[in-house]
Amino acid sequence: MKYVAEPFRIKMVETIRMTTREEREQYIKDAHYNLFNLRGEDVYIDLLTDSGTNAMSQEQWAGILRGDEAYAGAKSYYKLLDTAHELFGYEYIQPVHQGRAAEKVVFPILVKKGNVCISNMFFDTTRAHVELAGGKAVDCVVAEAKDPAMKAKFKGNMDVEKLRRTIEELGVENVSLIVMTITNNSAGGQPVSMKNLKEVYALAQSYGLPVCIDAARFAENAYFIQRDEEGYAERSIEEIVKEEFSYGDVFTMSAKKDAIVNIGGLIGVRDEKKHAELVEKIKSNCINFEGFVTYGGLAGRDMEAMAIGLTEVVDRDYLAYRIGQLEYLGAKLEEAGIVIQSPVGGHGIFVDARSMFPHIPYYEFPGQVLAVELYKEAGIRTCDIGSYMMGNDPETGKQIQAEFDFTRLAVPRRVYTQAHFDVMAEALINIKNRAKDIKRGYKITWEPKILRHFQAHLEPIEE
Ligand SMILES: *Cc1c(COP(=O)(O)O)cnc(C)c1O
Repeated sequence: MKYVAEPFRIKMVETIRMTTREEREQYIKDAHYNLFNLRGEDVYIDLLTDSGTNAMSQEQWAGILRGDEAYAGAKSYYKLLDTAHELFGYEYIQPVHQGRAAEKVVFPILVKKGNVCISNMFFDTTRAHVELAGGKAVDCVVAEAKDPAMKAKFKGNMDVEKLRRTIEELGVENVSLIVMTITNNSAGGQPVSMKNLKEVYALAQSYGLPVCIDAARFAENAYFIQRDEEGYAERSIEEIVKEEFSYGDVFTMSAKKDAIVNIGGLIGVRDEKKHAELVEKIKSNCINFEGFVTYGGLAGRDMEAMAIGLTEVVDRDYLAYRIGQLEYLGAKLEEAGIVIQSPVGGHGIFVDARSMFPHIPYYEFPGQVLAVELYKEAGIRTCDIGSYMMGNDPETGKQIQAEFDFTRLAVPRRVYTQAHFDVMAEALINIKNRAKDIKRGYKITWEPKILRHFQAHLEPIEE
């Protein structure tokens, strides 16, 4: 697999520190074996998340200086609105400070207490905000997503039949909302096809249910549609993005992903007149939680950078390089017999830790085991997307077995080079070769009630 060369060159550098294995063993112990507790400076290659870790372009940095900091009606706000109207075709656009802020503003309005919300797969903060609004979050992803080794296109899709059955069984009056996550983060950044978006929207309309697009990686999703879906090869990324958003009523977006910025989020409402009451409530929640509607918790300069990033991310050469990086790493790992969510998705490589450590049960968190090993091996920081992240059943308090136990190597945009990718591959192969010597996993010694993986303390279980 050939590496797709960068469609940019490097003009500014940030030094990263090499550490010894001994040092790293101490750092991770001090961090209670939770990678979120490490200091960034003790990490060599940081793949904890692709969220807000992007490298901005010279145009964006120039935009930072041009940012208009007027409290109300800033030029940068109007620039962001113009860009977002043009790109998404939504009439009402509301900036917020990040994706979960969008969820906090929108979900209490759309989710009725005691009702169910159904998604192809909820991301963790999205699930948390459904639950905080008094709802229950149900996933209906296609069966292919649950078989990491199975090469199928659009493994992020909603299982439309299952969705229909779920609505029928619950009774439509007990369902508040359908959420389409593009790309499907929790299923390994797997894309959702246009056909699927269209079918889900038609079904939702037949039941009178609103569809919210969780749109963090809308451009990566559009690239997969252009590359892999029949009838889209000749359509531009911009056209595909417009069509994706036409199959939703509302969107919430973390701009820290595909807007290629370090902070920001957006809310969109397609038909401002039809949903006038919703827009009113969004404005009011925004003022209460985020700030006045024309800045939504952001500085003017942040809105300026977001507007520019939104135009850069739909460049096909950028997207081919971006997805190409992941395919390069994915191919190296598969060659070495490492099972990953395959084909590789949009923003990261999801290594199937259960298949690397078949002797470690889900309640000893194989995804976390591999994450800690990667840090000790090469100073690479990743995270568990599995049972450790999933947490306990809110009713019984018992550990849930996640569908998958992945270790996620999330790749920041425009940050790492081919040589860094070779370091990642080598580290994973070294760990695979000694996987059977790693006999036990971790136990949790302290955890908060919600979103525990960010803060929990762990301890290795003695052999
Ligand atoms: C990152 C993300 C969110 C939350 O966004 P933040 O900016 O981290 O608050 C929501 N949904 C999806 C699919 C995401 O990837």
